[in-house]
Amino acid sequence: MLGLPMPSFEAGAFLNTVLKLTARDGNVAVLPESARFALGEKRVVRVVAPSAAQEEYCQAMDRVGVHCVPQQLAVSSSSGTWQVISQPDLDRKAELIGLYLSQDLGAATDAAFADIYDADTAGALFGYPACCIAAVTDLEHAGSRWPEQLVKQSGPPINWHASANRIVADWGGISPVGELFPCSLACEHAAQIGRSGVHALEHVGLHRLASQIVQDASRNWCLAQGRGVPSFAPNAYQLAWQ
Ligand SMILES: [Zn+2]
Repeated sequence: MLGLPMPSFEAGAFLNTVLKLTARDGNVAVLPESARFALGEKRVVRVVAPSAAQEEYCQAMDRVGVHCVPQQLAVSSSSGTWQVISQPDLDRKAELIGLYLSQDLGAATDAAFADIYDADTAGALFGYPACCIAAVTDLEHAGSRWPEQLVKQSGPPINWHASANRIVADWGGISPVGELFPCSLACEHAAQIGRSGVHALEHVGLHRLASQIVQDASRNWCLAQGRGVPSFAPNAYQLAWQ
């Protein structure tokens, strides 16, 4: 727990709404973070949604007592490759939009602005560990080869945590740490966020989803051309869930 006040909004209705919309729109990667938000463990959640559905998301959030601040982003893809979030081309209507959800309108508005102009502040509002915020630029520079870069900065595999396994997102799995890019697969802070995401999903009754995330994060994988891919090779990485 981060010591945040218990949510006063309709936490169950909020999660049902996020589940329904993200299952339809294919952005379910946000579910572990949304479950932590519903339990009062996270202050701001960013959902990347189809621009055409902005009104629908914001109205649905309004009904469950959560503020929803939209921000046009330049997002390359939400399929697990690096999401390029930078200053948008305002002359072109983007296909995807960032929606910043919070009980605190000021925090949602600040996160929407900071996500483009001040990555450190945005990371802090999302509750990301300082070590991971500081290290994200190297992953960003690696582009689609960010899994290879993450392996490089992770030290010996014996210390890696399945609960910090962001690489599953590279082949379409749901990462236990959501959209956080850990500084290292051995990062204890990121691992703790991953464990609390899975606990939060269990706590709200999404047991099958929670166990699927643990299973995906613990499966064998290797690097191929800088990307992460599932692998049965004898030298594949296998991360333990602890
Ligand atoms: Zn870290």
